[in-house]
Amino acid sequence: MTRPAIAYAADAESVSEAFTLHNSALHAEGVSLDTLADSIGTPVYCYSRAMIERQYRRLEAALPEGSLIAYAVKANPNLGVIAALARTGAGADVVSGGEMRRALAASIAPDHIVFSGVGKTVTELEAALAERIAQLNVESEAELHMLSAAAVRAGVNAPIALRVNPDVAAGAHTKISTGRREDKFGIPMARVHAAADLARTLPGLRLQGIAVHIGSQLTSLAPMERAFAAMGDLARDLRGAAHTIDTVDLGGGLGVLYEPGEADPPSIEAYGALVRRVTRDWAARLIFEPGRLLVAEAGVLLATVILVKEGEDRRFVVIDAAMNDLLRPSLYNAFHDIRAVRPTPTRFTADVVGPACESGDTFARGREIDAVQAGDRVAIMTAGAYGASLASTYNSRPLVPEAMVHGTEWRIVAKRVAVESMIDLENVPDWD
Ligand code: PLP
Repeated sequence: MTRPAIAYAADAESVSEAFTLHNSALHAEGVSLDTLADSIGTPVYCYSRAMIERQYRRLEAALPEGSLIAYAVKANPNLGVIAALARTGAGADVVSGGEMRRALAASIAPDHIVFSGVGKTVTELEAALAERIAQLNVESEAELHMLSAAAVRAGVNAPIALRVNPDVAAGAHTKISTGRREDKFGIPMARVHAAADLARTLPGLRLQGIAVHIGSQLTSLAPMERAFAAMGDLARDLRGAAHTIDTVDLGGGLGVLYEPGEADPPSIEAYGALVRRVTRDWAARLIFEPGRLLVAEAGVLLATVILVKEGEDRRFVVIDAAMNDLLRPSLYNAFHDIRAVRPTPTRFTADVVGPACESGDTFARGREIDAVQAGDRVAIMTAGAYGASLASTYNSRPLVPEAMVHGTEWRIVAKRVAVESMIDLENVPDWD
């Protein structure tokens, strides 16, 4: 019997689709976040497998049949997360040798793996060729030369796509815009024909497609439509010059809703309809590289209030998660909804901050939230993408552990690291 995608408690009040209030406590699917905090401690990331699967299935249904949905591993590289997506049939978009290793370890077949990135090293190119992955998205003429040499040494033909910089402003935060002429990504549109000609003359390269990705957390379809239409024209022109274009990789980038009450980003279905309309007569296999869309809403960062501190003119709720665990608010001023695991009718206004020694270690400023006290748990919502993956050990805070929920079961998918094992990696030089 197939399990219903998301249906747990009959009396559940939905907070988001995967996280619901049940018996006055926030649950991930059928597991209380209090149970997770009691068992694992905090801070801890918690992911809903059902939500990840649901997003994948929705996207799969919206896109043209036969498309390869290559999950952008950078959004959340946890093996449990990648494996959940692998089960649904996803491939992987990787940008480093480490991400490729993770995708393979999570049982994604090499012929479902695409390797993107502006600075792949020779070692990474060699590893990708050795694994016989589906496609390397090449981002410069210099990389064509490097890859050609590596392929000749390995005695193989590298399946490549040219990643194009279409000079389209995606309307995203500048740090996650990737398709403008000033961005480091892709080959400028005006040079793509010459790059394709170069690929034809270099040994060991087999041009099979083109690729584009204009940015992340996109909340409008219009820039995507411009970029996709440009790709259609380019495919036609390259074919006109006797180049083979069997695949077109349209990247990822579709945004999710972080702030309740804000305008909804375009739906998966509207995105799929756009893709179908624009690509109708392309006669190419489509590849997509969604990251955030698949995992953002499936994750929360669970934390405990250490203390509530009254400042000169504001109240600070100090929690045991910090910017090293979830960097997005300090990096991009990103909004994350913050909820008490056991909400009460009382609310107050506070800054929600972490203990790290940076004023930027602030999750919310002047925010009305549930009136929490020391010892209460809070969930930082929509933290499944670019959360754990951007975590660091700043202030010698160990990397945050991760758990995954599946119905009424849960598992630790990344253990808490002991400070001692971090120290063990280091050495005091034995000089006098
Ligand atoms: N593909 C490439 C090449 C990227 O650089 C990124 C992230 O910016 C993605 C896919 C995934 O983007 P998103 O998580 O917004 O879907």
